[in-house]
Amino acid sequence: MTGVEQSKSWFERAASATPGGVNSPVRAFAAVGGTPRFMVRGEGPHLWDADGNRYVDLVSSWGPMILGHAHPDVVGAARDAASSGLSFGTPTTGEVELAEEIIRRVRPLEQVRLVNSGTEATMSAIRLARGFTGRAKIIKFAGCYHGHVDALLAQAGSGVATLGLPTSPGVTGAQAADTIVLPYNDIEAVRKSFAENPDSVAAVITEAAAGNMGAVAPREGFNAALRELAHEHGALLIMDEVMTGFRVSAAGWYGLDGVAGDLYTFGKVMSGGLPAAAFGGRADVMAKLAPSGPVYQAGTLSGNPVAVAAGLATLRAADENVYRALDANARRLGDLFGRALTAEGVPHTVAYAGNLVSVFFTEQPVHDYAGAAAAETWRFAPFFHALLDGGVYAPPSAFEAWFVNAAMDDAAFEVIETALKQAARAAAAAERP
Ligand code: PLP
Repeated sequence: MTGVEQSKSWFERAASATPGGVNSPVRAFAAVGGTPRFMVRGEGPHLWDADGNRYVDLVSSWGPMILGHAHPDVVGAARDAASSGLSFGTPTTGEVELAEEIIRRVRPLEQVRLVNSGTEATMSAIRLARGFTGRAKIIKFAGCYHGHVDALLAQAGSGVATLGLPTSPGVTGAQAADTIVLPYNDIEAVRKSFAENPDSVAAVITEAAAGNMGAVAPREGFNAALRELAHEHGALLIMDEVMTGFRVSAAGWYGLDGVAGDLYTFGKVMSGGLPAAAFGGRADVMAKLAPSGPVYQAGTLSGNPVAVAAGLATLRAADENVYRALDANARRLGDLFGRALTAEGVPHTVAYAGNLVSVFFTEQPVHDYAGAAAAETWRFAPFFHALLDGGVYAPPSAFEAWFVNAAMDDAAFEVIETALKQAARAAAAAERP
């Protein structure tokens, strides 16, 4: 590490131009302290910061970069598309091909619409579910993140599910009043909630496997039971695959558990790292969307030709070998966590949801947000900083999944293994606040 003077100075400039110096809160290192690194270049499994330090990247832009950074096929496709014009505001051939590729991979999908972010995808899917069913209420799960949609920022903090109290100032009671927040992986809570809210729930929205409280897989049968209960009560099931889609398998989480949602949301991998996302599902539901139907949804840059080209090139390059490498790299990382932390006597659980990995500083299995929050999260900041000092860029929060990519090689794993020894020592030495 050659110092972080450049990052420090950019962060100071950033902080006067932008709230908190960042364009998405987790990047500010608020949970771990220290100087956020300003990255200037990525290639394969590596990132370089403004001071010239190189890191093995275990964030992968929060998911999209399954092929590693600056993959030649993806960069080439984006460059070719850009040289033909950046945006037309008309239908294009590329967006049809991307929609077809997504539909081909995920069998329950009959139609998709392209949007610009995962937030827009979930917001639109919820509006569509409400428009289709003529109902208002939405069931979501604590610890599941679906973007910063007003209604979906509601948490169960106060436990007042029926009131859906907002947890961000600026989200009004009215915007959150129709959101019911339940514990993840608790099917009895869902059953009870449907019984208490007859004929009024439009949809259940769930991360197909939770990745935003750390990696927390659905319990065996949970997703299937959600589908059954939703249908029994005339509601739709929205599978949020923004994080898992096209990462945990060619068909996302659906490819692992085969439970069909009525609606799906995607982002991240399908964009190749540029701003693109999608929602889609059953044709009879999607038919309600303008201009076929009355539920309005639109976007000046939706289906942007450069983003579509990068997404399509990523999906086309993501063959069986890539998914095999992602799975193998996730297990290899998890094994290294386990070995390093065990050697230092740090209580931990390595959790997987497909090839999403995370480490919880507890020996109790984690099935929901309360379990994740009960871990010794105070060990995380020193663990994180020792990794960073050792040239490993980890997610700067104890409540995030770690994202491997297929470009990781033996040399990258050697850097991780060495850094993890120090990190495990730092986690062992951490003091309870
Ligand atoms: N849904 C899930 C499961 C996510 O993980 C995220 C972002 O991390 C979103 C939705 C929101 O996506 P975006 O950040 O593109 O708005």
